Amino acid sequence: MRLSTGRCGVRGNARDDFDAAVLANRATSQLRAYDPGPDLPSLRERFGALLAELGSNENPLGASHAVLEAMREALAHVNRYPDPRSGALRSALAAHLDIDARRILFGNGSNELLLLIAQCFADAAHSVLYSQYGFAIYPIAAIASGARGIAVAALPRDHPSAPLGHDLDAIAAAVDAATRIVYLANPNNPTGTWFDDAELGKFLARVPPQVLVVVDEAYYEYVDAPGLTSGLRFAREHPNLIVTRTFSKAHALAGLRVGYLVAHPRVIAVLERLRQSFNVNHVAQVAAQAALVDAGHVTRVREWNAAERSWLRTALENAGLGCLPSQTNFLLVDFEHDAEARERAMFERGILVRPVAGYGLPQMVRISVGNRAENERLIAAISA
Ligand SMILES: *Cc1c(COP(=O)(O)O)cnc(C)c1O
Repeated sequence: MRLSTGRCGVRGNARDDFDAAVLANRATSQLRAYDPGPDLPSLRERFGALLAELGSNENPLGASHAVLEAMREALAHVNRYPDPRSGALRSALAAHLDIDARRILFGNGSNELLLLIAQCFADAAHSVLYSQYGFAIYPIAAIASGARGIAVAALPRDHPSAPLGHDLDAIAAAVDAATRIVYLANPNNPTGTWFDDAELGKFLARVPPQVLVVVDEAYYEYVDAPGLTSGLRFAREHPNLIVTRTFSKAHALAGLRVGYLVAHPRVIAVLERLRQSFNVNHVAQVAAQAALVDAGHVTRVREWNAAERSWLRTALENAGLGCLPSQTNFLLVDFEHDAEARERAMFERGILVRPVAGYGLPQMVRISVGNRAENERLIAAISA
């Protein structure tokens, strides 16, 4: 027997007057669905091996053989729920970072954790601060929690070290009695810019302990700037500091969704009240642990990325395009007036890059460092 969906009105027009949007709660009614971008499966079909996916800061080198092998073995256990404590991964990461395992919490990507922090700690009585041109999830996290999201003006375009970067002095000055969370990305996406340890130390000293400071280090493994290590060096003195990281970028596991945060155990105890027990799947736990063990792969990725990013920057500059300084696996490129038209033209040739007009940067395009063949096709498309 064939199921008819038409007649019961599920597919039909009978209930077109049903307006669920007016039922959305106050926080959700202020949000819009994430733009999923172009339909990648159909583009992969259309362009095949000639598609250059340079829009999402993924790692073109892929995960290491050791990680792929560990994942294959893990597949035999997917009939069981994953370990809700991520115990083996937790112990491995605690040893890797030389910290107490109780200071770690894993998430379904760090994205989940960034949202969870606001959900657990902020509400309509609070405000949440972040920088103009800061990572897009921060305002969403603020609004979804019912709090007021406040973007603090970024540094000017002609700033010597961090053009369009975070103005930590201005952010510290904007903290008031209502502030509950400050989100900082270091390095930042989409600008690629960063602030060093000394600047973060000064900032933390100015912010009162009842304000949670979240330092998002999604690109941590790519960093080699002098004076920049990690927010973790301030964790002991500042129990209000939360550092987030991910296996999506340098570890090349974006498709598995696993990230983590490091925070005071009492902060973690609050987050645990709302975290889904099985938020990190078994294959992801096993893969992330294997990725930690294979430190050589991350070193190769870092060194390759630094060299390839420098090649790409030079090629872009030779094509007449300026780039912001970057400590990440992408470049923010200034296309001046015709960014949208050039992005469209590249798209038609199978070169996918990321427009950032939604961030208020209509003249810029964010381009991930691809492999050499992809980067060459990008440059050819730009020059055409
Ligand atoms: C990519 C990215 C993330 C999210 O990473 P997932 O762990 O894949 O959710 C978080 N913050 C910044 C700044 C990023 O660029």
